[in-house]
Amino acid sequence: MNKEYLKELLNQVNVELSDEKINKFISFKDILLEWSEKINLTTITEEKEIYKKHFVDSIIPSKYIKENSKVLDVGTGAGFPGIPLKITREDIDITLLDAVNKKINYLNDVIKRLNLDKIQTVHSRAEDFAKENREKFDVVISRAVANMSTLSEYLLPFVKIGGTAICMKGPNIDEELNQAKKAINILGGKVQEVIEYTIPDTDLKYNLVIIKKERNTPKQYPRKAGKPSSEPIK
Ligand code: SAM
Repeated sequence: MNKEYLKELLNQVNVELSDEKINKFISFKDILLEWSEKINLTTITEEKEIYKKHFVDSIIPSKYIKENSKVLDVGTGAGFPGIPLKITREDIDITLLDAVNKKINYLNDVIKRLNLDKIQTVHSRAEDFAKENREKFDVVISRAVANMSTLSEYLLPFVKIGGTAICMKGPNIDEELNQAKKAINILGGKVQEVIEYTIPDTDLKYNLVIIKKERNTPKQYPRKAGKPSSEPIK
């Protein structure tokens, strides 16, 4: 079950959890693997790899989320980073958004079986959900969904002024970020910080891009579904 190994990894990122929460992580891993036999959720199937690359990676941004924040996870897929964040942070209210309905059915099963509170799922594309939910969230987060320009158009319309977009990105993002600076500015954001981190017990170096929402996003954004990815703002 590798429970001690998970605890050790969490220690390395300065997170200490009750046994109840550790058990929820272990049950989450079991449900993820169970559903992975039916639908396409993750290519990582080895327990320790799931703990490192999905669970611990997902909770790294926690310190950039203030207490009692209203959070949206865009393109959550198998529930990353949203489910691990919710298990570790009972205070936050989190909405998990994905365009694929099968993943939403799986996420609803996870939420029920782990008995999680203050968590909702939404089956929609980000561009459509933004129509009714402009500037409603304190923090909008996303991992492995799109390039920085496209991602900014997905995330920033949802963020309240003074709130934050957290983009969980891979290595070497300088060029991608430079190309997205104009889009971020048009959409009312400003890059506040780029934090490089290493996933414990690996050589993997990833980045968090923290964008502050300074001004309202102009009404014409996001453009209609598909446009932000086919024609990113340049
Ligand atoms: N965030 C998860 C992770 O890090 O494991 C999933 C990443 S997966 C590569 C990308 C996910 O984003 C998919 O589940 C896909 O359905 C979703 N997605 C892509 N574009 C989207 C959009 N415009 N609106 C909502 N979901 C979207």
